[in-house]
Amino acid sequence: MSHHRPAVALLCAASLALSLGALGPLGARGGAAAVAAEATAVVGSPDGPDAYFPRDGNGGYQVTHYTIDDRVQPSTDALSGRTTLRAVAGSSALSAFHLDLRLTPDAVTVDGEPATFSKPSGHELEVTPRTPVAAGSPFTVAVRYHGTPSRLRSATAWDGYFHQPGETAAVGEPQIGPWWFAANETPRDKATFDITIRVPTGQQAVSGGRLVSRTVSGDWTAWRWKVDEAISTYLAYFVAGRFEIRRTTADGRPVLYAVSRQLSAKEVEQAFALLDDTPRILRWMESRFGAYPYATAGGVVSSVYTGFALENASRPFYSWFGSSAGTVVVHELAHQWFGDTVALQRWRDTWLNEGFATYVEWLWQEGHGRRSVQDTLTSRYDSYVPSSTFWDLQVSNPGPTEIFSTPVYDRGGMMLGALRCRIGKAPMRDLVRAWVDRHRDGTGTGRQFRDLAAAREGAGLSTFFHTWLDVRERPARTRANGLTGCS
Ligand SMILES: [Zn+2]
Repeated sequence: MSHHRPAVALLCAASLALSLGALGPLGARGGAAAVAAEATAVVGSPDGPDAYFPRDGNGGYQVTHYTIDDRVQPSTDALSGRTTLRAVAGSSALSAFHLDLRLTPDAVTVDGEPATFSKPSGHELEVTPRTPVAAGSPFTVAVRYHGTPSRLRSATAWDGYFHQPGETAAVGEPQIGPWWFAANETPRDKATFDITIRVPTGQQAVSGGRLVSRTVSGDWTAWRWKVDEAISTYLAYFVAGRFEIRRTTADGRPVLYAVSRQLSAKEVEQAFALLDDTPRILRWMESRFGAYPYATAGGVVSSVYTGFALENASRPFYSWFGSSAGTVVVHELAHQWFGDTVALQRWRDTWLNEGFATYVEWLWQEGHGRRSVQDTLTSRYDSYVPSSTFWDLQVSNPGPTEIFSTPVYDRGGMMLGALRCRIGKAPMRDLVRAWVDRHRDGTGTGRQFRDLAAAREGAGLSTFFHTWLDVRERPARTRANGLTGCS
């Protein structure tokens, strides 16, 4: 995510890998003498694996695919729909399990059979199938729901789902799924998506992946999108309203841009001009970080003011940025590698997403005749005097309300610039490439990056990382800290 300047607050994302084998003990039911299958059936945990946002995600299963079919009225923000998800139970049979859903549930089935359900809290949907789901087995859940998503506020500091009369943007980080579909909302549980959004005929709905079909039936038109690569739930999204859509092909892949027609004609052209840079930026990134992870590309510019842009997989979301766009497109496209295909395992590591996206912005500038990474690093370092509160945040564990604070971006990016200074440009390039290659289509942690760097470049780096990421003071201007005498 990148915040509009002047930066106030932002979003980007990550997660916890559900260990299928580690979900057992929660709410175990059944007497010792009961039939074996029933005795071992448990209630899947309502909590996910992240200490920062424990209500996001659930225990006992993993989702492999979501089919979402929502009807959205952009004039009023009324939403009704159905999510059908395919999942696989963990090592325990499930007598009941949870999904994350802020909307009002109307009906639930499990493998086609009606199931009982309840809303123990605003965030949770508890589902009890007629018979327990067997351990390790695939199962299908269908949930019907309705509501007015923009009225559903988050219990955390991070609200997603934005609506203004005539236009809706379902975008957010670290949470957004439960506002428009029934989700296992953890970045660790990646799944493929088949997303149909029905809007009044004459309006448009845009999401990630490829546009499969647009079907008019009377007053409503169904826009169907498919994301064929597994992505984290917060990276799925839609916008709905009046959008101009332009399609092209670049480097053999379909590219689709959409810009809100609530913007002026001049602004619409400015937005398309900015989006048009996408293929060139992706080409440059592929030469550095390896293959672009998705089969489609593009971008969406909404007139809804969110205060941030977001790296939605394959087609980032941009709130109208006016003249302050800067390198926001570079930033969000960098996240396709750093944040999307290599997703966070835990939200405390947002520096891994935002530090890299910031560093890549600096690399882009350096590679295009603008300021060098070293100059940017030095000037940022100098701009934050030792007494600045900028240095007070522990970037490696900022706390749930600070995961998108300026130091997570800037100090994270500075650390990577300093690392390049310390180990040299070519080893840095190889290290970054090795990081992406190792964690592509998966997740990573800050600790894993530190360990990989130390394994390649020497254990002495552990002090370097500690100084930059853990210590709440300004690193000294030394060669060991990558601030002088670059290799
Ligand atoms: Zn970002």
